Amino acid sequence: MAFEGLADRLQQAMKNIRGKGKVSEADVKQMTREVRLALLEADVNFKVVKSFVKTVEARAVGQDVLKSLTPGQQVIKVVQEELTALMGGEQTKINFALKPPTILLFVGLQGAGKTTSAAKLAQYLRKTHNKKPLMIAADIYRPAAIKQLQTLGAQLKIPVFSMGDKVNPVEIVRQGLAQAAADHHDLILIDTAGRLHIDDNLMEELEQIKTISHPDEIFLVVDAMTGQDAVNVASSFHERLGLTGVIMTKLDGDTRGGAALSIRAVTGTPIKFVGMGEKMDALEPFHPDRMASRILG
Ligand code: GDP
Repeated sequence: MAFEGLADRLQQAMKNIRGKGKVSEADVKQMTREVRLALLEADVNFKVVKSFVKTVEARAVGQDVLKSLTPGQQVIKVVQEELTALMGGEQTKINFALKPPTILLFVGLQGAGKTTSAAKLAQYLRKTHNKKPLMIAADIYRPAAIKQLQTLGAQLKIPVFSMGDKVNPVEIVRQGLAQAAADHHDLILIDTAGRLHIDDNLMEELEQIKTISHPDEIFLVVDAMTGQDAVNVASSFHERLGLTGVIMTKLDGDTRGGAALSIRAVTGTPIKFVGMGEKMDALEPFHPDRMASRILG
């Protein structure tokens, strides 16, 4: 299960302090040392860990936390609040267009889960917001990507616009948008090509697609299992495209959690949804507070 090691380690670190009637600065230091190690072991970015521990320490020994009636619990509350803040604080909602259609662009490396996540989100927003989605298949490079989107579309009864893999993706998007307007779709999801690594041609193509489609959201889809690589990928994509949100997939796997805990702090981009499995309903809005509670037990 995701975060298992981290959860164990953090809960252990909290255990000593939890029930204490009196907590000293040394107790706090001891706890934050353990928290620091737990986060580093979970592959959280080291700068993020450093600043996190500093903030927790300052808050825990400051104000009246240690003099309160339940200092142990107050210190744990500080950790919980800071963990929530680290992952973005409030849940971040989808930015719907004031004037329909809302356009969502999906970008990311090959295999991250773009195609799957686009289909999941299309069905999720149809269900929760009564949207009428159209998916545009603009990944002409990965063999079978178009077919995969068509299959998911057929399964969910969501139309897919495609022009095969011989047409330039920018042109596919242009014509897809026209089709969406003609058919009165109020939600358009564009599945773009990934590569195995970040490369300039890909970025240029995505920039062009962004220019012609004016997306309301640019979602980077990243695989939680790739750890700090996911964070580096996010930084690169953000620099070129200006991401508005992250969809982190494969949180049902046994990821240590480093990417989920670092990506917001490093890139400033919030995680908006998480993928929890291969099934079409395995997509959830990301709630930093619930995730923090889950990790801290
Ligand atoms: P793309 O190349 O970015 O379009 O990636 P795909 O959408 O084809 O996904 C790659 C693989 O990851 C597929 O086998 C998906 O079923 C799988 N996948 C996507 N999201 C999740 C997830 O949240 N959990 C799990 N376990 N598998 C996922």
